[in-house]
Amino acid sequence: MKTVDILIENVNEILTLKGKNQPRIKSEMNELGIIKKGSIAIIDDRIIDIGRNLQYKAIKKINAKGKIVMPGFVDSHTHIVFSGSREFELDMKLNGFSYMDILNRGGGIYYTVNKTRKSNIIDLIEQSKFRLNKMLEYGTTTCEGKSGYGLNLETELKILKAQKILNDSHPIDIISTFLGAHAIPNEYKIDDYVDLIINDMMPQVSKYSKFCDVFCEKGVFNVLQAKIILNAGKKLGLIPKIHADEIVDTGGAALAAELKAISADHLLRSSKDGLKLMAKKGIIGVLLPATPFSLMMKEYANARYMIDNGIPVAIATDLNPNCWTESMQFIIQLACLNMKMTPAEAITAATFNASCAIGENNKIGSIEIGKQADIIILDCPNYMFIPYHFGINLVNKVIKKGKMINF
Ligand SMILES: [Zn+2]
Repeated sequence: MKTVDILIENVNEILTLKGKNQPRIKSEMNELGIIKKGSIAIIDDRIIDIGRNLQYKAIKKINAKGKIVMPGFVDSHTHIVFSGSREFELDMKLNGFSYMDILNRGGGIYYTVNKTRKSNIIDLIEQSKFRLNKMLEYGTTTCEGKSGYGLNLETELKILKAQKILNDSHPIDIISTFLGAHAIPNEYKIDDYVDLIINDMMPQVSKYSKFCDVFCEKGVFNVLQAKIILNAGKKLGLIPKIHADEIVDTGGAALAAELKAISADHLLRSSKDGLKLMAKKGIIGVLLPATPFSLMMKEYANARYMIDNGIPVAIATDLNPNCWTESMQFIIQLACLNMKMTPAEAITAATFNASCAIGENNKIGSIEIGKQADIIILDCPNYMFIPYHFGINLVNKVIKKGKMINF
């Protein structure tokens, strides 16, 4: 009998997410590929077998009776590397100040930019590692991470280098995005800053980034400026992503379709025409329900319209100082309870579709033979418990690249 490194047995439900290796749309998002009373065999960092009654000897056996097993969560939109915190803004929010109000009073992003500019890289790594540890504890095994709290070459590079060091040293894999166009620094006029991004920053940051992102929003970067930046990024091999239509509809969704961006994120105010163009081009909509939640907004992105009209939807935390959560379980809860996604759709959006949104779907996002063994075991009898039993951590064990994580 063959010996494997890890054998997970007696699993109540394995959510394999097995299916076509492309972003899942419409009813495909409800198909979790469930195997009941199944087992998973792992050698090194790979899944080598899945099914019922697997016969292997194992160095480590895990009895998952009464539990579910699924791919590790993929958090496809985070701003994980930043310095300081902004808990004092909560009082302002409770007094009815909008995000733009706080921004216009010199708070918001500029507070974090100042803190991040002043931090040394060791301190930045330490602060971010705390968040990565929490993410892992809550079942996230891969995340995307954006720069954007530097807004000058030196600090943008510092953030991306910190992400590289964290990626190399922490169990979580971090896929990096350059977001120099996150806001306009006070010392620049917008056109001069766009020039600085393209001519000074991009040639230096491109080797540390897979994606280029722009905060395309009223009062920040308009569609034309976003287009110029993202096209310049494309020339350096950076795949476009867009923060689109979060506060007002500026045509960000349509721009994502035009540029064939891998994803457009937020989409709270996108027009139906813009969304239809995204569906036509297969652009992934990354929805971030914790953002309107943290801003105490009643309105959420129209996930139902997007899924019903063929946009492949992913969900993510948007972890940042203005929306601080490491928990993808909480995001699934918000997706179901506030965006009317089904539990199965939300799970697909937090795993396989999320892996597509960061271009990692050949490696992660589902439990299939040959894929990397990024697997979590949850203390619940079926998948519907994830949005149902909320506000606690259901994760019982985390396996990353075939290694059990000890907390
Ligand atoms: Zn964001």
